[in-house]
Amino acid sequence: TLALSACGANEESPGGGGGDQGTENESTGGVPVGVILPETASSARWEGFDKPMLEAALKAEGLDPDIQNAQGDVQKFSTLADGMINDGVKVLIIASINSELGGTVAQKANAQGIPTIDYDRLNLGGSSEYYVSFDNVKVGELQGQGLADALKDKPEGAQVIEIEGAPTDNNATLFHQGQRKVLDPLYESGKLKLVQSQKIDNWDNQKGGTTFEQILTSNGGKVDGVVAANDGLAGAIITILKKNGLNGKVPVTGQDATADGLKAILAGDQYMTVFKPIKQEAEATAKLAAALAKGDTDAADDIATDTLNDPEGNRDVKSVLLEPFMITRADVKRVIDEGYVKAAEVCTGD
Ligand code: BGC
Repeated sequence: TLALSACGANEESPGGGGGDQGTENESTGGVPVGVILPETASSARWEGFDKPMLEAALKAEGLDPDIQNAQGDVQKFSTLADGMINDGVKVLIIASINSELGGTVAQKANAQGIPTIDYDRLNLGGSSEYYVSFDNVKVGELQGQGLADALKDKPEGAQVIEIEGAPTDNNATLFHQGQRKVLDPLYESGKLKLVQSQKIDNWDNQKGGTTFEQILTSNGGKVDGVVAANDGLAGAIITILKKNGLNGKVPVTGQDATADGLKAILAGDQYMTVFKPIKQEAEATAKLAAALAKGDTDAADDIATDTLNDPEGNRDVKSVLLEPFMITRADVKRVIDEGYVKAAEVCTGD
């Protein structure tokens, strides 16, 4: 009935999401800014949420955005950056594939006097002066707490497998840190038992599934709970659990509140996801970009009032770090009500 309450809710979402906020790359005659997104494969968020929301938010600030996606190709990422720098963008917004690449691109832009904003993923050792993201340690804490909640009635020694994000994405490191804040005391007390923790290169969902399957097999088919760092990995893991008749019995975490993730929650196959209101991330980025395009660093500093430490660059980066939210079965309706997914996308199917 909880599922039904989510599914009976506002069929017509109040907007905020969707890809129909104006013709793509139609020039507004505003100040040109470039945005490079990393890929399309690991999460539905980049094309589904970030792209349309950045487009709308940047235009609302009077900027003329050129938003491109590197499709996971590091060469393409560099080429896109070079093109935008040559086109004379006034600000470059970088959601990188890995820190080194993002850092190189930022340095090139900065050398031409173009300010850069690291978007969502901080480039460790990089030169961008500003960063906009969520509190990513908190994201991990919500995941750890979700799994702890889901396993609280299990007998001592419930077995946990952790499938983590890319080792080259600082966010994956922060998610893991947050998870362990909650889970380490439970591993230490013996309430939970960690079978194995594995990072997955490039957040590759398919690799995540096969890695999980290998760990499960070598553990004799035994697992009680799974930390999956996002909904994409969770989906691949649930496929393996289904093959073994374990779906719905083994709680799995997630992130991004994607339609597939929410659907799996309503089906009982996934325990939770983390909702990050990306519209806020896009709007903060647009305000910051507008200030930087005018060279108004005081205004930019008034927006980026948080800091995040970059241990590799040995610096604190001026940041906007937004609040993430835990979504379990009872909260699915919230994501629908806020316009990120349509009820029909989440409620149809099995
Ligand atoms: C983002 C997540 C996303 C993951 C894979 C992370 O950097 O913060 O939202 O699921 O990358 O794309």
